[in-house]
Formats: sequence, C-alpha cells, structure tokens
Amino acid sequence: MQIWPTGIFASIDGGLGAGIESVQKLGVPTVQLSAPSAALRTAEDCAQIKAEFAAAGIQISVVFIGFPEDDYQTVEHVVQTVGLVPEGTREARLKETLEIADFAAALGVDAIGMHLGFVPGEPQDAAFQQLVEVTRAVCDHCRNQGQFFHLETGQETADELLTFIEAVGRDELKVNFDPANMILYGAGDPLEALDRVGAHVRSVHCKDASETRRADQPWYEDAPLGTGDVNIEAFLRKLNDLGYEGPLTIEREYSPDQAGDIASALKLLEGLRAKILG
Ligand code: MG
Repeated sequence: MQIWPTGIFASIDGGLGAGIESVQKLGVPTVQLSAPSAALRTAEDCAQIKAEFAAAGIQISVVFIGFPEDDYQTVEHVVQTVGLVPEGTREARLKETLEIADFAAALGVDAIGMHLGFVPGEPQDAAFQQLVEVTRAVCDHCRNQGQFFHLETGQETADELLTFIEAVGRDELKVNFDPANMILYGAGDPLEALDRVGAHVRSVHCKDASETRRADQPWYEDAPLGTGDVNIEAFLRKLNDLGYEGPLTIEREYSPDQAGDIASALKLLEGLRAKILG
C-alpha cells in the first residue's frame, strides 16, 4: 500500500460514520472501524465483515472502541463517563475491550484504539496506578495476538501522556494522534505535542478545530479540515519528518454536511500528499 493511504471512520452498526458502500463511493483504501456492539461481533459476523472489506479492497487499520455510556456533552461528563477511567464500569469495559481485541484479531487487524478517558492525577496517586494496571492488562492481551493499543490524544498534554506511557511501560501501547483534540481540550499546541509524542504515534486522525469559539458553539465541535487552527500542511510535514507512513484517517464529527466535508478533506489530503511526498 502507498505511503499515507487515506481513510475514514466506518461503522457497521449504522448511525456513526459510513457503511462500506459510502467508503467505496469515496474510494478510500483504509478505514478505522468503530467496534460494533456485542450482538454484531459473532464469528459469523466477523467472517462476513472480513470478506466484505477484503472484496472491496479496503484495509481496516484500527478497530476503535467506544462505550454506549460515553458522554461528550461537557468536559466534566467526559471525565465521569469516558473510557477505562470511570471506576464503576471499568471491569465490565475491560472485559469488553479484550473481547473487541479478539474480534479485531479475527478480522486480521493489528490495532485497537480508544479514548482511555482523562488520566487522573499524579503518578503517585492510587487512581493513576489503577489506570496503569488496567492499561497493562489490555496491552498484555494485545501482545499475545501481535496487536497494539492506540490511545486517542487530546485529554492530556503531551507531557502528561508521555508520563503515562512510560508508567505503563509496554511496547504495545501507542498513540492515535488527533491534533484537533489538543485544541478542543485546551491540551496544548498540537504540533508541539506531536514533536513530544511522535515516536509513539502509530495512527492519526486528520481533524481540525478552531481556537476561537462562537458563543453558542459546543466545546467539542470540530471544523472542516483545513479551516481550523491545526495547520494541516505543517501537521503532515511533521508526520513525514517523523517517518510516519500509515493511514491519514479523516475524522469529521459534528457537521451539517459531513459527507461534503469529508469529500473536501480527501481532496485536501491528496493534494498535500502529492505536494509533500512528490
Ligand atoms: Mg479523534
């Protein structure tokens, strides 16, 4: 596959992102697949999904895990509900995460990704240590089947993320770098953050966001790629300098014209790829 194949999010549950027909229509060679619900993860489903994507010539680069109770309404809701951080749901979610890793392995996919949630406190805190332990459990499970565990960026500053990665101390732990999230969560300059965590990046979201917010704008609302404050060309040049050759996965979440914005984003990325890689 070429360097920097384009990609989008795909879903087979419907609702989130695009189904395989939309992916084919856009002509992208890769997707990050939102993990389907348990009811759609049987061996039969898995064989069918694998066959359909193979027949369409589309590579699934990462199976991305979310939970039905994840709530992004406010940053405080994120702290309370997202990922493996909330204690009340941690055990059940760990179990499901390992099941999804198995599902991904059966699909032949070597990475799972997740918003882990806000890493709590300082390394000496019990809550921090507990999150280290649960993350190690995911990594150790992944190692047995040659997989990686990609952490979505944004909630933490680059330094906090590095501290956490070092505390976990597992080679399977990687970063899915989302530059827009750094802006949306106020977690620091995205390109400076990429400099810091670049060695750990194994997948990216091509997503943009504006620093300036309208009075009525939800905090999480992203911007069409190339119209926000990420500086997509500089982002790609930095990825190139880091030797990153993996997929450029477009993420456009909150838009009245998601399909139109994704089509424009594809054009932008294809143009920049030609310009930068020659
Ligand atoms: Mg993202």
